[in-house]
Amino acid sequence: MKVYYLTDKKERQKALAAGGYYTQDYIPCLLDSAGISGEALAPEDTDRVQPGDAVFAPEGAPLPPCRKITYPAAAEKTEGVKAEFELSGTKVYLVVPLRGEPVKKAADSLSFGFDLPGQLWFAGDGWPREPENFFVGRIPDASPLGKNNIAREPYNTALIRLVAGTLLEWGFAAAAPLPPQNGSLPDFGFMVSGDDDCCSRDINLEAAGVMNRLGLPYHINAMAAQGTAFCIDKADFEECARLGTETALHLDLSAVPADPRGETVRQKKLFEKTFGADPVTNCNHCLIQIHDCEEALLGFEDAGVIADNSKNGETNPEDINAFDMTGYGFGFMHPRYTVTKEGRVIGCMEIPQNYYEPRIGGKYGTDTGKLKNYFETGKKYMAVCQFFIHPHYLCSNNEHSAWSVKALEYALEYFKGKNVWITTTNRLALWWKQRGESVIKREGNVIVADAKAPLVLLLPPGAKAEENGSSLPAGKTDAGLPYIAIEKPGLHRIALKEA
Ligand SMILES: [Zn+2]
Repeated sequence: MKVYYLTDKKERQKALAAGGYYTQDYIPCLLDSAGISGEALAPEDTDRVQPGDAVFAPEGAPLPPCRKITYPAAAEKTEGVKAEFELSGTKVYLVVPLRGEPVKKAADSLSFGFDLPGQLWFAGDGWPREPENFFVGRIPDASPLGKNNIAREPYNTALIRLVAGTLLEWGFAAAAPLPPQNGSLPDFGFMVSGDDDCCSRDINLEAAGVMNRLGLPYHINAMAAQGTAFCIDKADFEECARLGTETALHLDLSAVPADPRGETVRQKKLFEKTFGADPVTNCNHCLIQIHDCEEALLGFEDAGVIADNSKNGETNPEDINAFDMTGYGFGFMHPRYTVTKEGRVIGCMEIPQNYYEPRIGGKYGTDTGKLKNYFETGKKYMAVCQFFIHPHYLCSNNEHSAWSVKALEYALEYFKGKNVWITTTNRLALWWKQRGESVIKREGNVIVADAKAPLVLLLPPGAKAEENGSSLPAGKTDAGLPYIAIEKPGLHRIALKEA
């Protein structure tokens, strides 16, 4: 049993020649998010497809009898929301045209009334926008929803979850979006990150100390002022690490360099030279992005940065630096990959920011409903929740610090009795990359998993796992899906028995 995605070189050439997109190229990114292994399938090779296989294909593509996930091909990327619909209570904002019923599910087919890969690709990438209340384009202002909508749920992640759930029902296995912890699937994950804006070494060190006292790891993106020097040195970098704070890159493109890709590489090299370490991930200063998503991520790929954390879920047109904001403008809660127009997966993922500067106290009030709801959304999607808190909002002499700390204390109280994967942006990025390099196959009644990292393997509903060799811890998700926890990377063969 295999999962295939049709890849037609001639159709791609045609779409590109017409100035459009071959949206089928986004399927590998969809599969990465779903934790499912798939293979490209050329139109001349479709005779190898077996009835139990599942094939992703544009509607109307000739295929032998098999399970099918189909959609009309959109090809064009145009700005703005074209349609909305409800998917099990989640509002989905479509940036591609809707033709008929949004979703139709039958025993051996799942069909969409819109270009599913095009939707995930275009909404996730967003659009560069002319500067409005800022001197240069900012990514959060390029959210596909515009300024009048706030996405209350990660609507693209919801679509991917539907696809993954269907493939599980058809007998395939999937890597969950969280690693095992204590032998089971965590309820959700949590990390805290912020940018130093090259303020002062005292701020970075004090913030690292505050987080250390709270018992939480922290992540600071360090900026070199005008691209010349960081406010911390190698000894400070190491002291932060000792306190449980990792330091990554805060790329500064505010001078609007003529060659942003070259500037990205230069600032990353400066980081390595200063600290003798790889930043692993990045977040852009003032969330400034020059050119489109593809060009920005190619710069990080050139630089060897594996994840960018620059996309923010919600903006407030009244206040460019508004706090206590949660939302999912781009529609994702898990890390996502994207592709070049020629269909190559870019080697730098994006980790979306979904909660910007949480606050309890002062003008923000004492209601904790927003925070609780955020963690519940994290649990629903098996996602890593992120508090984005700048280090200077954790330090003395700032009234915000008490309100930020209150939000963190609430989180710690809420986590009691729950299995929460406390992590960092760098650790998430490294784990997600290895998860994506893992290969999971079904051979008859055996799931063969070549795990490159600890994985929770979601199994088809009703399956009972009996590991050959070692015994792996097993459990069930909230939705009742059986899973096994692969705590050690390597080759695992899991024989399935029907319940
Ligand atoms: Zn900044």
